[in-house]
Amino acid sequence: MPKLIQTDAYSAHLRERSVRREERRLQIARIAGSEQEKDLTSPPNCGGFGRVRHFRRTSKSGLWPANPLPIDPAAANLGLEPSEELRAQVFQNAACNWRCWYCFVPFRLLDAQEDAGAWLSADELIDLYLSEPEQSRARMLDLTGGQPDLVPEWVPWMMQAFRERGLEGKVYLWSDDNLSTDYFWRYLTPAEQELVATFAGYGRVGCFKGFDEDSFSFNTQAEPQLFNRQFDLFERMLRTGVDLYAYTTFTARSSDGIEDKMARFVDRLQKIDVNLPLRTVPLQVYPFKVVKERLDSHAHHAKLGNTPFEAQQRAIEAWSRELERRFSNEMRQRRITDVQVTKRS
Ligand code: SF4
Repeated sequence: MPKLIQTDAYSAHLRERSVRREERRLQIARIAGSEQEKDLTSPPNCGGFGRVRHFRRTSKSGLWPANPLPIDPAAANLGLEPSEELRAQVFQNAACNWRCWYCFVPFRLLDAQEDAGAWLSADELIDLYLSEPEQSRARMLDLTGGQPDLVPEWVPWMMQAFRERGLEGKVYLWSDDNLSTDYFWRYLTPAEQELVATFAGYGRVGCFKGFDEDSFSFNTQAEPQLFNRQFDLFERMLRTGVDLYAYTTFTARSSDGIEDKMARFVDRLQKIDVNLPLRTVPLQVYPFKVVKERLDSHAHHAKLGNTPFEAQQRAIEAWSRELERRFSNEMRQRRITDVQVTKRS
């Protein structure tokens, strides 16, 4: 078994190395020249700190439920027709407190190492974004990582810079959160929290990493009990009023009892809000190059062979059955942006 990450201590360490609050700067990963560059279909942009991502609704295998995130929220906010594909300008912060074996970011870009990134401000990121040719510039900015919420200031700083440039409502802002820390409340002022909750044209996704404590810990290398914290943090964020969605991954080291475990997982989502499963998108993990190499190089993972992928297949079947049992066909067909959940408490 790999050694488990001490998440709270490691998060504090990474935060210290990845934000300078007084200077309003954070460590942004330099994608150009990194291992990640080799996996990109188009070269890094924005001075080497950005990349363009194509979000696609339909899975590569065609055997997995459609992924409307962030296509539908972006389209709804920008007044566009929802499409099959959406281009986004991506920036990554250079720190993450977990080490998911299926992560497509090389771990070197998650360690807040000074030589893997640069200290940039929100203004400088927007300058880089605006320096791309207007005709090819994506209308969505994706702040990802890493784990953006180790530096929760990033989102409100970008929002303030958007406002100053007259970009609010013209460019959709999206960020993700691995649901590991309470830094949003610990480090943001009430005014910054309110800005995030009420900004026009912002959506956010919280990622549940597994369907129970064991699959969570297997996926992230974090302590199993932090699986439960994910639900508390998600609920707390939902109650701020932010436009919040969920992702989940279903890889596991075993398929034992998966139907029952999935039923409990859906119960827990519904405890937060009865409709939350319909705002939750399971992501399919693919054994592509970086992931395959990582799996093969760890004895513990290598001996599992194809089991994690077989488990995710069993899990998605169980998930689909649970949703069919709990929601009408009409509800399941609803656009994700039209699924109502109670936001502000
Ligand atoms: S939480 Fe996200 S960025 Fe961090 S290791 Fe997992 S997949 Fe990668």
